[in-house]
Amino acid sequence: MAGDCGSCTACCRVYAIPELSKPAGKWCDHCAIGKGCKIYEQRPAMCVDFKCLWLQSQDRDDPRERLSPELRPDRCKVVFSPTTNDAIMAALTMPGMPDAWQKPIVRALIDRMIKADMAVAVGPPMATHTLRITKYGIEEVEMTEPDENGMQWSVGK
Ligand code: SF4
Ligand code: SF4
Repeated sequence: MAGDCGSCTACCRVYAIPELSKPAGKWCDHCAIGKGCKIYEQRPAMCVDFKCLWLQSQDRDDPRERLSPELRPDRCKVVFSPTTNDAIMAALTMPGMPDAWQKPIVRALIDRMIKADMAVAVGPPMATHTLRITKYGIEEVEMTEPDENGMQWSVGK
């Protein structure tokens, strides 16, 4: 998590932090849930660097390009983040809420991405089956088990 997240701490739950041996989907031991990081000044580099799509959008000059407060991950229960592939957006659902992406406000955002020719990879942390939503429809994608860094790849695609 970075600054200006308000009371959101969603990414401190969904992502693996190898440096802390923290698995994806479990709250970080250093998280004051809904408040912030208890080791903010000493947090790992990947926590310093991470900005979800919602947080990135808050920096836009044009207020119309900023995602709404309701789309903050702790509220909408989905953490959107760009991937190393510009054409694929990751959408991690909060544990226990695999259908959060179907909420109208979230689905509308996904539809905007699809219109912009992106694919959106949706699923809970560490899922070995995720959904890939594109302009051609929704398909299930088999994923590898997470490696020691929490990374996963699609199988055979
Ligand atoms: S999910 Fe986004 S808004 Fe929430 S704490 Fe992480 S970076 Fe901040
Ligand atoms: S170290 Fe801090 S910022 Fe990083 S996951 Fe844990 S609580 Fe969140």
